[in-house]
Amino acid sequence: MPRFGAHLSVAPLDLPDQRRTVSGPAAALLRAGQLKCDCVQLFLRPNRQWTAPELSPEQVAAFAAEKTAAGAIHPVVAHAAYLINLAGPPEARVARGRVADLSLAALKDELARAVALGLPYVVVHAGNHLGLGEEAGWRRVVAALDEALDPHRDASVTLLVENTAGQGTAVGWRLEQLALILDHVAHRARVGLCLDTCHLFAAGYDLRTPEAYQSTIAEIDRRIGLDRLHVWHLNDSLRELAGRIDRHTHIGCGAIGIEGFRLLVNDPRFAAHPMILETPKENDAGRPMDPVNLRLLRRLAGKK
Ligand SMILES: [Zn+2]
Ligand SMILES: [Zn+2]
Repeated sequence: MPRFGAHLSVAPLDLPDQRRTVSGPAAALLRAGQLKCDCVQLFLRPNRQWTAPELSPEQVAAFAAEKTAAGAIHPVVAHAAYLINLAGPPEARVARGRVADLSLAALKDELARAVALGLPYVVVHAGNHLGLGEEAGWRRVVAALDEALDPHRDASVTLLVENTAGQGTAVGWRLEQLALILDHVAHRARVGLCLDTCHLFAAGYDLRTPEAYQSTIAEIDRRIGLDRLHVWHLNDSLRELAGRIDRHTHIGCGAIGIEGFRLLVNDPRFAAHPMILETPKENDAGRPMDPVNLRLLRRLAGKK
């Protein structure tokens, strides 16, 4: 059976019965335990700002303690900040400096944090070429991934490039392009693939029928190799096939529908893969939805 989990918050979590508050990465692990997740994804830096408070020794120690207590929850996957853009023009600037420099520094810091916590994966989007063109864009991604990984030659952390929906000038929405990135990095063994079902579908890869599903997975295998695919993000898509618009919704409530997810969670090739929800936390009525989506996935996979 796949390992089901969700992207969870690192915001402080009160534990009234233990009269303590846990903050940082340990808080996401505790939330994962409360939800009975098999695995979890979290942010190691604020996802929409360039500055990040240091990861304190106390937070590292708290995470290690919770990790031991919650030993069954693995892997713990980090998702890099959304601001990071490895594909853009070298001269693009924001108030704090050049986006390329800020992105590289942020990615290096994400990796250092993952190593400090002993996490196996950091997921990163390839970014947006912003007019440079697709080839120049992916070539810049390759150079940035290699530079970020240089100091981690022997570390156990693997960078996973996530496919995108292909909005705007996004790089890495076609499998051909992801293959180019993954084939050109020098640190080949340190770079793998994370696939998001909503992004795949928005990029034009159908999953809705057995035929469409098998042909999409066969294309992933042919172009990239299933051995390089380490993590799935499970999100239904609010928008249509090939619409190139990235809008996540609850499993079975979008344009992919139940059948696509049933096929994926029962595929023996992914029987041990982490499958992580990034669906909205609540429905329109304010009901917490992670438990609902997790229960549905387990039911589809034949688990109680
Ligand atoms: Zn992502
Ligand atoms: Zn995703």
